[in-house]
Amino acid sequence: MADRFEPPPEYLPRSVLRRDCTACGACCSAPDIHALQKPLGVPCVHLGAGCLCRIYPSRPAVCRNYQPDWVCGEVAPLPTLDARIRRFLEIYGLEGEIPVLE
Ligand code: SF4
Ligand code: SF4
Repeated sequence: MADRFEPPPEYLPRSVLRRDCTACGACCSAPDIHALQKPLGVPCVHLGAGCLCRIYPSRPAVCRNYQPDWVCGEVAPLPTLDARIRRFLEIYGLEGEIPVLE
């Protein structure tokens, strides 16, 4: 099975030590999540302080099943949640859908 932490060739390798979720909040903010009626590019209403989930024990299956991968190495080191959201959406070719943040 392919190593899901191995980035595609067009992306520089990141730290090989970073192979876990570091609670950067990007995957709870960038994608649209139908089960939560969460629009793209907006933090989930359940995302709390420190980018931790406030409903973690009862989070939906889509959140339970999400697994960290090489994208985490691209987004997690960025300094702000806004920057992480933008990078996440860029990676998936959705930068044109980035909402204008006030
Ligand atoms: S993008 Fe990766 S590191 Fe950031 S919260 Fe999601 S799984 Fe964790
Ligand atoms: S419910 Fe929790 S784990 Fe799921 S997107 Fe919202 S904050 Fe993240």
